[in-house]
Amino acid sequence: MPRKKLHRRVTREPPVSVYKPAGIPAKDLEEILISIDEFEAIKLSDFEGLSQRDASSVMRISQPTFNRILASARNKVAKGLVQGYVLRIEGGRYVLADGTGILECLDCGSTVDMSSSDKSKCKDCGSTRLRWLRWDKKQRDGET
Ligand SMILES: [Zn+2]
Repeated sequence: MPRKKLHRRVTREPPVSVYKPAGIPAKDLEEILISIDEFEAIKLSDFEGLSQRDASSVMRISQPTFNRILASARNKVAKGLVQGYVLRIEGGRYVLADGTGILECLDCGSTVDMSSSDKSKCKDCGSTRLRWLRWDKKQRDGET
């Protein structure tokens, strides 16, 4: 029986999934995989400035687990910057919903519910730059 995995809550997926040093073809570069939960940890702690206690409760994990994920994330980012690796952000153990999501307007931050009749543009500003903002209604297993 596989051990039951903990699902780390992630508010949304990162807007960009690959960071690559300029001027070198990706095939000639080594790649570091940063999981979505590692990305979230570094975002909450180093970008949003949450305490580790608050950040761990946002992700619904224990503080030691958060610390471990954060340390791993920082190590990978540092390695990538110092050694010029491609940083790919994807996968990992986290909770997101599929299908029944909400679209977020990249221009005004307003949200478009998927049950609304017009999903192609923002109801507030008319922008068509929308992206998925998925909620954690449905749990799913990660691969790692
Ligand atoms: Zn808008």
